[in-house]
Amino acid sequence: MAKEKKNEKSLSEKKGKVSKKEKKELFAEYPNLWESRSQDDIEHTMAFAEEYMTFLDMAKTEREFVNLAVLALEDSGYVDIESVESLKCGDKVYSSIKGKGLMFAVVGKDDIVKGMNILGAHIDSPRLDLKPNPLYEEDDLVFFKTHYYGGIKKYQWTTIPLAIHGVIIKKNGEKVELRIGENDTDPIFYISDLLPHLGSEQMSQRANEFIKGEDLNVMIGASMLPDDDSSNACKYAILKILNKEYGIDEKDFVSAEIEIVPAMKARDVGFDRALIAAYGHDDKVCAYPALMAVMAQETPARTCVCMLSDKEEIGSYGNSGAQSRLYENFLVELFAKANGGYDELGYRKCIANTKMLSTDVSNAFDPKFASVSDKRNTAYLNKGVKMEKYTGSRGKSGASDANSEFFASILRVFAEHNIPWQTGELGKVDAGGGGTISAYLAKLGMEVIDCGVPVLSMHAPYEVISKIDLYFTYLAYKCFIENIK
Ligand code: MN
Ligand code: MN
Repeated sequence: MAKEKKNEKSLSEKKGKVSKKEKKELFAEYPNLWESRSQDDIEHTMAFAEEYMTFLDMAKTEREFVNLAVLALEDSGYVDIESVESLKCGDKVYSSIKGKGLMFAVVGKDDIVKGMNILGAHIDSPRLDLKPNPLYEEDDLVFFKTHYYGGIKKYQWTTIPLAIHGVIIKKNGEKVELRIGENDTDPIFYISDLLPHLGSEQMSQRANEFIKGEDLNVMIGASMLPDDDSSNACKYAILKILNKEYGIDEKDFVSAEIEIVPAMKARDVGFDRALIAAYGHDDKVCAYPALMAVMAQETPARTCVCMLSDKEEIGSYGNSGAQSRLYENFLVELFAKANGGYDELGYRKCIANTKMLSTDVSNAFDPKFASVSDKRNTAYLNKGVKMEKYTGSRGKSGASDANSEFFASILRVFAEHNIPWQTGELGKVDAGGGGTISAYLAKLGMEVIDCGVPVLSMHAPYEVISKIDLYFTYLAYKCFIENIK
């Protein structure tokens, strides 16, 4: 049978039963953004992705992200909030939270009591941390013992190139910064796995058992000094190198913060280069556009704030996690200096009038693992930023459920500015779940909703996102802070 002509109306439409236009207006549709975008949009998408990938390769840890962001902020005229007495419209300030979190703001025209607009992401990612006594030798091989950080599938961390990042504070107080495995001429580090020839018993074990936490030992050396026939000769050879290069000894590891991360760089995926594979998309793929969206502000109507927090992957605890008062201290100082002095009631009103996007990633639907998601309530790659009214697990336990009035006000603003978005939950009911920083900020009284980029293979050493989602997420964040009231 010949294909019906495109413009020819169907029989039911002719009879007036079905109007395609009306149907389109009544139905909720979430189009693929590649289909509906201009050449201009696509060029911006590709350029934004390239800048993100460059940044990501330099900012694999929370400390590196803060260092780079502070450099960019200072370049754009931001100053430490402590260095100023008072603030007026257009002033730009920041505060480092222990070098692992960051708050920064552009002061707006409106009275700050009327509230601020905040974008809040986290900049820590799942990884392996060194144990306090990490160094040991076994059968003439030298290893670092690790303790995994965040939710990982342990077997994914074997047989991939690994890099060492972090800080060691020496006995004299001097800070040594490590970053080994990122340059092409650097050595990398490695966790072994069993050859399949001898792996039949291993392969019959459950996936969460065949590589255990205590198996995540990183190979860091395999030689000894000539003519050294003493015990621990290989460990001694490594300590000699570390002492010569960095002036450290074994006890300096006890107080150090050293992270083992994948040594892979961000790369395009696919012939069409539509996707990006990288370590740490969660949550730098939201932190980066949030950083850029606030940095694009000069004299906004409402004061715009960006919050980049640490420790989200382990519950946002500690004084660098989102539950820490240090983040709120910045808001208090910002309020006091923009308000011409601190007043408790005024501050609380300001926070109650404040609107926030908790900019964190969510899972992208994976057709290979379709059974864990409700296809009608999940985010897809290439359909734009995901608005997530609530997170949590089981009966919404632990969720910060955004208020309908607030959510609808954002959708209204997005519609006015042609910002595409999609929505969904993280998996089927009772399939699992997860949380973000939203609940901790909502507790202070501000309006908060989760809004981020869908990620494929989330929490794997190499995660995947869509470039068009990234770019339209940036536009969504910018639209929010510029227009929400
Ligand atoms: Mn996250
Ligand atoms: Mn995560």
